[in-house]
Amino acid sequence: MRVYQFAKQMKVSPKYIVEVCEKIGIKGKTFVSGLKDNEISAIKEYIKKSKLSGKPIVSTGTETVGEIASKLGIPAADIIKQLSDIGVTAAINDRIGPDNIKKLCESIGVVVEFKKTKESYLLGGVVEEEKDLVPRAPVVTVMGHVDHGKTTILDYIRKSNVAAREYGQITQKIGAYRVNLKEGSIVFIDTPGHEIFTAMRARGAKVTDIVVLVVAADEGVKMQTLEAIDHCKAAGVPIIVAINKIDKPNANPDVVKKQLSEHGIIPEEWGGQNVFLNVSGVTGANIKELLEIILLMGEMMELKANPKRPGEGVVLEAFLHKQKGPVINLLVQNGTVNTGDFFVCGTAWGKVRAMFDENGNKLEKAGPSTPVELLGANSVATPGDLFRVVASEADARKIAEQKIEELKQSGIKEQKVLTLEDLQRQIVQGTLKELKIILKTDSIGSQEAIKASIEKISQSSSEKNGPTVNLIHCGLGAISESDILLAVCSQSVIFGYNIGIDAKAEKLAKQHGIEIKIYRLVYDLIEDVKNALEGMTKPKEVEVMVGQALVKQVFKIGKNQSVAGCLVVDGKAVRDAKVKIVRDGKFVFEGFLTSLKRFKNSVREVATNTECGIGIEGFNDFQQGDIIQIYQRVTEGVQT
Ligand code: GDP
Repeated sequence: MRVYQFAKQMKVSPKYIVEVCEKIGIKGKTFVSGLKDNEISAIKEYIKKSKLSGKPIVSTGTETVGEIASKLGIPAADIIKQLSDIGVTAAINDRIGPDNIKKLCESIGVVVEFKKTKESYLLGGVVEEEKDLVPRAPVVTVMGHVDHGKTTILDYIRKSNVAAREYGQITQKIGAYRVNLKEGSIVFIDTPGHEIFTAMRARGAKVTDIVVLVVAADEGVKMQTLEAIDHCKAAGVPIIVAINKIDKPNANPDVVKKQLSEHGIIPEEWGGQNVFLNVSGVTGANIKELLEIILLMGEMMELKANPKRPGEGVVLEAFLHKQKGPVINLLVQNGTVNTGDFFVCGTAWGKVRAMFDENGNKLEKAGPSTPVELLGANSVATPGDLFRVVASEADARKIAEQKIEELKQSGIKEQKVLTLEDLQRQIVQGTLKELKIILKTDSIGSQEAIKASIEKISQSSSEKNGPTVNLIHCGLGAISESDILLAVCSQSVIFGYNIGIDAKAEKLAKQHGIEIKIYRLVYDLIEDVKNALEGMTKPKEVEVMVGQALVKQVFKIGKNQSVAGCLVVDGKAVRDAKVKIVRDGKFVFEGFLTSLKRFKNSVREVATNTECGIGIEGFNDFQQGDIIQIYQRVTEGVQT
């Protein structure tokens, strides 16, 4: 057989066969030379064994399998098989991306060097290399209980920074600002609090590198302090504790340290992981040290980005300005955004017309960890939207239109609700090892009792190698929007005991498909957790409306207590049943019917067209005309 015939059979180039011949010591062959049987076996053996083309290749990271094969000088069929051996399924015209090209080349011993073109960046064809990465400024969110001094600290930092740089007054609020120090820069998110932090996370955007948790030294740990800690833990973001108001005579930082230690935030001097600083937002004591610690922590976290990439970032705020048109307050997170770049930002797109920093200075380019006001979008973006530079106007328009279409489709499809039953199913299938729960209760006493029981169940399940419960957050009072957002971020189910849900939270839960389970009896709650862990399916219970009562009169019976004189207009009213209060077509409260009276007597049930007095735990705001809907849980298929 001649070389070119054999090459055809092997699906390689004749040149490749000649090269292989040279390598294995069969000298002097040309395309038309004949090959003896033993030579053919030797060549086949070589190709089979080594599959090496031997020489390094240069890739843009965007080639198809066929193109890579020809660069390597290896038959495409062999490349496809080799890819399959390393777990990549691809056809000849597929682009496998830089990571897989790298894996492929490594698996056959070929050195690959990636050349970065604008196209390869834009097509996602770049393996980020250490040498392209440069340190970037840490992005910090300040969290803590209301009135503990978050705004005062942020203002102090901003003002002292303005003075230090001898800039004019900060002219505009752009959602974040950069503080430039001798040792480096820090970006502070301008709006303190966990609402923005969680809202961003719920949309899939990771904005914050470090959280500064502010605790007032005279008040100590409060509800929102604990909530902030749970949010940080769920997001895996490190915490620096700023014990504030240290200038006050009744400041007691040791109490704060002790309280936080009980929640796993332990000072370094006590052998823990967290840096604690005593500060004052009023006198500025230790604020400089706080900034230095943030920088140090940023360094230790090795926060890096590649300024050579096309810009990427996240929307902090977006609005329509009368003169400027749609404005995006953007935090550039990676790469560089240049004036004139085309971009997509959620369903908005455009060409960067102008960019400004927080002092109103015009910027031509903005690199990693830079907050900017950006003009040029065709419509108003949404906070949390991801922003990225694309190759052309056509691409920008196309991607944004696709996104609009996707949203329309998902709007039509019913939002998938994450239910306890789904999680239970995943436990049975063995795909879920941890059941995440957010627990809200009416009192500390009930919270502790439920927590203890859940921990016991979790412990005994883990001893049997079963799934465990992770109590992501425990809090008091009605279920709030913040609970829902935390549930979205952490994929948790919300359990409530003897509490209500505020109307906004209920709407948000529906939007995000989060299940809220409200219990009246601790026993029921614990049973559900147990069953979920054991993967046991209970007969399915559904909630049905059994009656409706119309509020005709409101009676005040104590300082903070009132009952409603009602007429049962439909079905029946039942004591201890779950109720929802509807006013002007909207749900205003959800809770339990705790008192039901006919004249002066307590009764269990009241039938249609009967008058009765209704009291609802935790609700005193009855208004004439309110409708009280009464719900009971029944086993599916069983009539009440
Ligand atoms: P935020 O709700 O956490 O943003 O709290 P603010 O920054 O609005 O502060 C609440 C109150 O505490 C204001 O009256 C501040 O003046 C006061 N405050 C904040 N920081 C300090 C401090 O370090 N020392 C003292 N004495 N008062 C402070």
